[in-house]
Amino acid sequence: MKLVLLGPPGAGKGTQAASISERYQIPHISTGDIFRKNLKEGTALGLKAKEYMDQGELVPDSLVVDIVVDRLKEPDTQKGYLLDGFPRTLNQAIALDEYLEGVGDSLDCVINVVVNPEVLVQRAVGRRICKNCGATYHVTFNPPKAEGICDKCGGELYQRDDDNESTVANRIKVYQDETSPLIDYYAGKELLVDIDGHKEISEVFQDIVSILGE
Ligand SMILES: [Zn+2]
Repeated sequence: MKLVLLGPPGAGKGTQAASISERYQIPHISTGDIFRKNLKEGTALGLKAKEYMDQGELVPDSLVVDIVVDRLKEPDTQKGYLLDGFPRTLNQAIALDEYLEGVGDSLDCVINVVVNPEVLVQRAVGRRICKNCGATYHVTFNPPKAEGICDKCGGELYQRDDDNESTVANRIKVYQDETSPLIDYYAGKELLVDIDGHKEISEVFQDIVSILGE
C-alpha cells in the first residue's frame, strides 16, 4: 500500500501516520526525518541539501525528490509506505509519479486530513512540548496528567515561540498556497480522500481505516 498523507500543520498528521504505519506494517517516511538522517550521516545528498540550507535557501524540488526516491529504494518499502511531508509541491508530485511509473508502480491513495484554520490556530496556541523527549500535549485537548510535566518521561513542557496566533495563521496560509495545486492534482487523478480531522484522534483513524480497508 503506497500512501501519501496530506494535512496542514497541526492537523494531527504525525499521530495518524504512526497508527497507519503500525496497522498496515508499512514504514512512515517523513521528509523531515530522512533529511535529518542524510544530514547527520553526511551522505552526498545530505551535503548537497546542506549547501542550500546554509545559505538560507529552499532545497530545490529535484534534490528533495532524489532524497525521497533514495529512501523508497530501501528494502523495508516492499509492502508499501506512507509518505508524510512529501510531496509538498506540484512539481514534487509530478516527479514522484514519474519515478513510480518508471518502476511500474503507482500510489494507492492520498489521504487529506482536513481541519479548518481557526481550529488549527486554537490547537497550536495550546500546544506544549516535552523538552526532554519531544512528546506533545495540548492544554485543553490532551493535557498531561500533571500540569507542565511530561507523562512519558517526567520532562518539562514548554510552548514553542512560533506557536502564537499570527505565526500559526501564516504557517497555515503558506501550507494552503503550496499544497492547493497538489490537492487539485490528486483529486484529478481520483486518488484524494478527504478525512474530517476535527474528530477525535481515534475516530479520524477509524475513518482512515474504513477507506483503506481493515
Ligand atoms: Zn517527555
